Amino acid sequence: MIKDIQHYPDMANPQLRPRYAGIASFFRTPAVETLANLDIGLVGIPFDGGVTHRSGARHGPRAVREQTTLIRRYNPASQVAPFELARVADLGDAWLEQPYELTAALDEIQRFFDQVHAAGVLPLSVGGDHSVSLPILRALAKAGPVGMVHIDAHCDTGDDYLGSRFHHGAPFRRAVEEGLLDPRRVIQIGIRGSLNHPAMWQFSTDSGMRVVSMEEFTDKGWRWVAQEARRVVGSGPAYLSFDVDGLDPVFAPGTGTPESGGISMIEAQRLIRELGGIDFVGADLVEVSPPFDPSGLTAQSAATLLFEILCVLALAVEQRRAERR
Ligand code: MN
Ligand code: MN
Repeated sequence: MIKDIQHYPDMANPQLRPRYAGIASFFRTPAVETLANLDIGLVGIPFDGGVTHRSGARHGPRAVREQTTLIRRYNPASQVAPFELARVADLGDAWLEQPYELTAALDEIQRFFDQVHAAGVLPLSVGGDHSVSLPILRALAKAGPVGMVHIDAHCDTGDDYLGSRFHHGAPFRRAVEEGLLDPRRVIQIGIRGSLNHPAMWQFSTDSGMRVVSMEEFTDKGWRWVAQEARRVVGSGPAYLSFDVDGLDPVFAPGTGTPESGGISMIEAQRLIRELGGIDFVGADLVEVSPPFDPSGLTAQSAATLLFEILCVLALAVEQRRAERR
């Protein structure tokens, strides 16, 4: 450290320095390129080659990193202090050497997460478009299919589109076909809008997924939906995938396929908090598109949700540590 700290020795910890200072890593955690001595790795995936409509999500990780610098170390609502429960660092980006070769790009992303998973580190990723969840699941579900809490306006269980099997509307159909997801332990929350073609919705329900439409969400409320998620996912390993377009565009206008009539921020925050105790093996937050986010509001909403997700991942780390004792 070149800066000579004279008055406040606590500021040796970058998280305790003024929040406008320093390099904008996720939550001002140490930026590292090694997996040693780590429980949770924050990862950016600057890739939007799977987008079918408005692009720009490749710029998501940098914008969300910037907004996470506002967030401190304690969650007063859930009383979780994630950085005390788990060793957390920013692993940088799963950047791509071949961003214009879709299947090669997905393979590259998988190889990054293969290493993270092999080191016993839980990945918490920021996209990128939703196609990136497939290679992450390929890395995390090697020992067998996992469950999933999926919050999104869209089922993302579509089939081929314009000749490609891989795009941001299809990752979870491919994941079921590849045996990465146990559809009976998958819940999709917030589904709405005309992009959800009946055949897509049909694949989700026919495969055994629990689909909670936005209508059901508003009728029964976030607390009931959280209980339903815990019931569906059960006690086995599970993944959490949050597409920022699951939020109402009032809170997240900067995304590729916004759908009006969505989840509010406070509903999303309380829903995620109620998922504490699920055995999460990783999570992602995707589809933040800064070019459509001039005010930065979407990135700020995403950063806020990322902290809530980090808290439930830290609880999963702590739970696994307690079971080993
Ligand atoms: Mn979506
Ligand atoms: Mn999606």
